[in-house]
Amino acid sequence: MKMRITRILVLLVLMMSCSKDDASSNYSNGVNVANFQSTGSSSNDLLSANNFTSMVIEMAYVEGYEPTELAKNHLLAFLEDRTFKPNGITIETRAIPSLGLSSYSIDDISSIEAANRTKYNFGDQIAVWIFFADAPSSSSSSSGVVLGTAYRNTSFVIFEEDIHNYSDSALEPSRSVLESTVIEHEFGHLLGLTNLGTPLQSPHEDLAHPKHCDDENCLMYWAAETGEGILNMLSGGTVPELDNACLADLQANGGR
Ligand SMILES: [Zn+2]
Ligand SMILES: [Zn+2]
Repeated sequence: MKMRITRILVLLVLMMSCSKDDASSNYSNGVNVANFQSTGSSSNDLLSANNFTSMVIEMAYVEGYEPTELAKNHLLAFLEDRTFKPNGITIETRAIPSLGLSSYSIDDISSIEAANRTKYNFGDQIAVWIFFADAPSSSSSSSGVVLGTAYRNTSFVIFEEDIHNYSDSALEPSRSVLESTVIEHEFGHLLGLTNLGTPLQSPHEDLAHPKHCDDENCLMYWAAETGEGILNMLSGGTVPELDNACLADLQANGGR
């Protein structure tokens, strides 16, 4: 009997240590707490195949604010160029109801995620949530419009209504180029840029705009997520790329 209790105890301890090591079983109320960590903290998991060999991106939008096919394909190409996911990267897109607010705080955005997100890290697949909002950020003002915000390790929001306001008119960039720039900039934050979980390999953080790159042509320049600043960056009509300093940071943290 004593022997049996010991065996059961050993088994229990083994089970506990297994579940501690396995990020995919870290569930609470149907959601994986591994997806509710700080921005940049999953950079190595997103970049490398060490813990996750595939990635699923859940894109939710309010009807009328779906991102363009060009932007989805551009994001896939960006991620395939920068990450190691031998079992593939997939995007799933669907419409969800609007909260009907005139602007969204990050608390609002977070409750939309809680009510609608269905994909969490599971097994060797890492999951990312992107919401395309039908109203502006509550942080936007006449002096600066916020086009996107990365607020957790696998979550960000694109303020698609303002993307519409800043694209597809005379002297404005095309919708897909503006979307791609903001989506990939926010994804860059999930990948730990700049100095946000992915260690700097050279000093290139913009001290006036922390967690951004100081190269004004780089995707991670601060202006790439603000309504006014981004128009200057996109005057050439193409999506900005990461500069060599940001690329070196990603490669040193398991990226491609
Ligand atoms: Zn940013
Ligand atoms: Zn850079």
